[in-house]
Amino acid sequence: MTASKDQVVTIRYTLHVENELIDQGELDYLHGHRNIVAGLEEALEGKAPGERVVVSVSPEKGYGLYDPEGVQVVERGAFPKDAELVEGAMFYAEDSQGNPMPFTVLNVDAQEVTIDFNHALAGETLDFDVTLVAVRPATPEELEHGHAHSLHGHQH
Ligand code: ZN
Repeated sequence: MTASKDQVVTIRYTLHVENELIDQGELDYLHGHRNIVAGLEEALEGKAPGERVVVSVSPEKGYGLYDPEGVQVVERGAFPKDAELVEGAMFYAEDSQGNPMPFTVLNVDAQEVTIDFNHALAGETLDFDVTLVAVRPATPEELEHGHAHSLHGHQH
């Protein structure tokens, strides 16, 4: 069995950006549902357990290009009173369809908060070193949810 649409794939991975280790671990994801960045999903397509994939993913197929318009200044009053407004804090806004849009607080002053909707890894080339551990068919429930339900995957 190989990584293809509607299969749950277990991978062991490291992620480096400019030779700095950003993340590592083991992960289950549902292939073909954009649970992982597009460039990595494409590189894993058709691979079998035991295979190793070393790939550099461009920002376009990773977390996107850095968009200067993603940096915005909002009034402090736009946040709930109990929100902990500190540099680096993450919050979620909603777009007009109700989809969550995460952002990071860049700066806080008495009246205003500068926020950034760019992903922390936007504009970065992602160097993945991945070993495929296992592949299995997704359950109907997993397909309905659009993500893997298992030890290293999504928890309810
Ligand atoms: Zn679920």
